[in-house]
Amino acid sequence: MPPRVSAYAMVPVDEAQRRILERAHALELEPVPLASSHGRVLGEDVLADADLPGLPRSSVDGFAVLASDPSPVREVLDEVTAGRLAHAQVRPGGAVRIMTGGTLPDGADAVVMVEDVDESGERATLHRFPRSGENVHPPGMDLERGQRVLRAGTRIGPAEVGLLATVGQVRPRVFRRPRVAVLATGDELVEPDQTPGPGFVRDSNRYALVAAAQAAGAEVVWHAHVPDDEALLSAHVRDALERADVLLTSGGVSMGTRDLIKPILERLATVHFGRVSFKPGKPLTFATTAAGGLVFGLPGFPVSSLVTFEVFVRPALLTLGGLGEVFRPRVQAALGHDVRPDPVRLEYQRAHLRWEDGRYVARTTGLQASSRLLSIAGANALLEIQPGETTLPAGTTVPALLLS
Ligand code: AMP
Ligand code: MG
Repeated sequence: MPPRVSAYAMVPVDEAQRRILERAHALELEPVPLASSHGRVLGEDVLADADLPGLPRSSVDGFAVLASDPSPVREVLDEVTAGRLAHAQVRPGGAVRIMTGGTLPDGADAVVMVEDVDESGERATLHRFPRSGENVHPPGMDLERGQRVLRAGTRIGPAEVGLLATVGQVRPRVFRRPRVAVLATGDELVEPDQTPGPGFVRDSNRYALVAAAQAAGAEVVWHAHVPDDEALLSAHVRDALERADVLLTSGGVSMGTRDLIKPILERLATVHFGRVSFKPGKPLTFATTAAGGLVFGLPGFPVSSLVTFEVFVRPALLTLGGLGEVFRPRVQAALGHDVRPDPVRLEYQRAHLRWEDGRYVARTTGLQASSRLLSIAGANALLEIQPGETTLPAGTTVPALLLS
């Protein structure tokens, strides 16, 4: 019998990413209460509704005065606290006691800090003459009315929540989170709470992929394990695609006789590639349904499934979720040891980066076998190792994707 050859052309990594992102479109917008908006992605630009501060504001506790007034002793006319305006107007010879955040009274143009003033009764003696504008925040210093405060496509973190509150956006419109279904395939899988018999392994991919999808901002609506049975698998794939925007399958995409996912996807969807020049995870498969659903057939080996998720699925989920920047930041890192590249495929090696003597140094997380999940557990970066025949000596600089 001649060797079996894959019917799928080997696609380079960037081409595979292009084919995926071309077919991934941001989902619709929905309003969320401000208090639940953390972690969501803004669907529209946010503008300042007013100047902040609206009126000149004191940045210290002290005395509001007229800077051009030469008299060292001033009569204290009134007091201003944050949120309470002064009744008195500051005139030469006068001053108004003012607290941090208080609105500058009419007539004043500077604030002398309490530390620079002796106060006795209603008299304030200045030890320092301020220049005009000293310790005063002018209107619009923090925000100017109409200014764009946040851009659509921004992930809402604590500062963004604060800004939304500041401009009165109590129900920001955000992108709907992608709905994801996860289907682990394999006759050899048992549940994690079971003890695997001879030839069996615990299903780890299903749970790892659920976590990875959630970490990418998706909502996991369904997950299951199905044995390598064509009819059952077909039914579950169809069912999952009814509920989810994205289906992730694990296993069953290689060249074995029980690898049923590719033929099923050929029938239920359009396959855009079935092999990537990538290590770990060459048999990664990507398809779309007529309704626009995305299907990723991820390889079965635990490292392959998580690394292909990281490089191919995560950017797609972030795109669906409306994020503007979907790729990890890249830095240059010096290899802490020799690395042997794969002769033909671009390889993403798991490594730990540390800042040492003014540069990142990458140390391997150990054996890079695609079955060894421990190679990811301690990693904070993926090293991009171009294919080649010669060993890269320690000290060679390579690009690294920062994972955290
Ligand atoms: P496959 O791509 O289906 O041939 O799977 C390759 C290997 O990956 C299997 O022999 C298992 O050892 C492992 N594997 C597949 N699916 C899982 C899973 N859900 N959890 C853990 N290991 C798996
Ligand atoms: Mg399998």
